[in-house]
Amino acid sequence: MQKQHTVTNNLIDKLRREKELTFEEYLFLIKNRDSCSEYLFKNSTEVRREIYGNDIYIRGLIEFTNFCKNDCLYCGIRRSNKNAERYRLTKEEILLSADEGYNLGFRTFVLQGGEDNYYTDDKIEDIIKSIKYKYPDCAITLSIGEKSYESYKKFKLAGADRYLLRHETCNKYHYEKLHTKEMSFENRINCLKNLKKLGYQVGAGFMVGSPYQTEENLAEELIFLKNLKPHMVGIGPFISHKDTPFKNKQSGKLDLTLFMLGLIRLTLPNVLLPATTALGTIDPEGREKGIKAGANVVMPNLSPVSVRKKYMLYDNKICTGDESAQCIKCLEGRIKTTGCNIVIARGDYKGGNEND
Ligand code: SAH
Repeated sequence: MQKQHTVTNNLIDKLRREKELTFEEYLFLIKNRDSCSEYLFKNSTEVRREIYGNDIYIRGLIEFTNFCKNDCLYCGIRRSNKNAERYRLTKEEILLSADEGYNLGFRTFVLQGGEDNYYTDDKIEDIIKSIKYKYPDCAITLSIGEKSYESYKKFKLAGADRYLLRHETCNKYHYEKLHTKEMSFENRINCLKNLKKLGYQVGAGFMVGSPYQTEENLAEELIFLKNLKPHMVGIGPFISHKDTPFKNKQSGKLDLTLFMLGLIRLTLPNVLLPATTALGTIDPEGREKGIKAGANVVMPNLSPVSVRKKYMLYDNKICTGDESAQCIKCLEGRIKTTGCNIVIARGDYKGGNEND
């Protein structure tokens, strides 16, 4: 035991120093996470503090449509879910959410939705321009799935700054277990490459504990992320949804998600790393624990309360009944307990060469 302890701690020291490990070394740490998680978190929070201080960035999440043409097996808003009550927000409603968010101190708005062709490129461009016109000091992040290079280019020219597109898994075989045949792993990765090429700050990411995921897959994820060099990495536990084919599958675990957050912080020191709503859903203090593992971003919900329960990606999602003002107050208090503070800022990526 004592010996293993030394081996794992030495590997963590090496990761902090060299910012990467081999597949076997990552796998060894993941398999022996119980013996070294505290030491990992001590290092990952130190590294976060060196770069971002005690600042925690907030992103206002506006979930503007739950219509989706895709049928991802894990997702509660998949097109086959006949029990989902579908909604779309108008441009005016989106702008009202942004107004409320701005007054509460948000300087980044994340427009997230299912892949909904009702919102043509022209409509999305119009929404981006309207928010940018009113709030030129704010960043806009899009999270609306796979689009063509041309569409991504139009959105960028209209003023979008960032794009979140989780790759979901870096293993093609695993990807095909989570998605239907009409979706392709190659296209998803190609989208991420196009987004980088166009100069977006890009967010990738995956679910922890998704069905058929192995510890080997998680070790692969770290190598994949090291090569991709995204500016953000969104990870959270998979949580089953009662109206999906994965309804009886086990949800992802807290300890493993936290451990992955710590490893990601040491692998990509400058990365923007959210403590996600899914993490807050599987544990009442999940987001605080995420910050103590190296996360530096939280993404509270800014959607109108009337639609919040309809954007149900997974069962028991938290914060679906509260007003935005309540949410941010509650989060502020929670984050203070970690020794960090929410700041009013766009919260851009603090570049280091290794991530550019
Ligand atoms: N349509 C957009 C946004 C998807 S929702 C896109 O394709 O990028 C945002 C993220 O929620 C997904 O990328 C997925 O990783 C996560 N998610 C979906 N269903 C989930 C579930 N059951 N448990 C945990 N996370 C889930």
